[in-house]
Amino acid sequence: MPINGSGKRLTSVAPQFATGRAPTRPMQDAPTNPACRPARLVPIHIPDDASLIDPDSGGPGAHPHPHPHPPEYAGHLAGVLLPSARIGSRAAELASLIHEDYAGRRPHLVCVLKGASIFFHEMLRRLQDRSQGYTFDFLRASSYEGTETTGTVRVSEDFDYGGLEGRDVIVVEDIIDTGVTLSRLLPVLRERGGCRSVEVCTLLEKRIDGERGARAAEAGGGGGHAPVVARYCGFSIPNRFVIGYGLDYNELYRDLRDIWIISQAGIEFDHKTLAV
Ligand code: 5GP
Ligand code: MG
Repeated sequence: MPINGSGKRLTSVAPQFATGRAPTRPMQDAPTNPACRPARLVPIHIPDDASLIDPDSGGPGAHPHPHPHPPEYAGHLAGVLLPSARIGSRAAELASLIHEDYAGRRPHLVCVLKGASIFFHEMLRRLQDRSQGYTFDFLRASSYEGTETTGTVRVSEDFDYGGLEGRDVIVVEDIIDTGVTLSRLLPVLRERGGCRSVEVCTLLEKRIDGERGARAAEAGGGGGHAPVVARYCGFSIPNRFVIGYGLDYNELYRDLRDIWIISQAGIEFDHKTLAV
């Protein structure tokens, strides 16, 4: 999993503590991740200077522990970027759109493990709220880069491609960063699975630029790969490394309820020292 540049970049970013939700604004004047072009709706834009929720105070008048976390993570967390309640209401909106789009059909939802697992279950519940029928499955995908254009994705060997045949597939992801993983996974699913359609539902897309932005642009249309179009996308977030709500750093922090920005101490923490 590419955690390299993203995590390190945090070193120069001072967390800003404040209370309340990050303001949102339309995407029209905002940079987008070129690997991820939402087709169905505009993702909620979390600005680069979004205030984080202080993990210690939670803000004046707030409950002292509005965002509980395992005590062993004390000091590892810079602040909450997206509280789980906000993710829940966004998942409800995404589920409504899926319900509209798949009226009379039963999509096959495929969760990309492990990061998307919490979001996946949230989506399943929200689809149940709308009496939307579906089937589901899980896969693990890891991307390997041989050369710039011949990189490939390895899909878990026991994945049931037969279950995709003739189906409307929705791939559920936690986050699109460069888009490389999905740009390689989607053709594999289409070709080996024989599905009727494939769409992507991602909780987050990251706004990226520079070298990684160029790779994203390539993943989105160059290099012989099909463009990644996330038809359903929750939030467009700053180019910072996020953890929690299923997303990890060195396999830690998946157990956080909310989505946080990791602190420098969290980046440097020797995860092998944590008691099991
Ligand atoms: P991509 O192939 O789009 O560059 O990367 C996709 C995968 O990288 C995601 O599914 C996720 O596993 C991982 N990833 C990218 N950015 C982040 C991040 O900010 N936090 C975490 N925890 N994982 C990330
Ligand atoms: Mg993922």
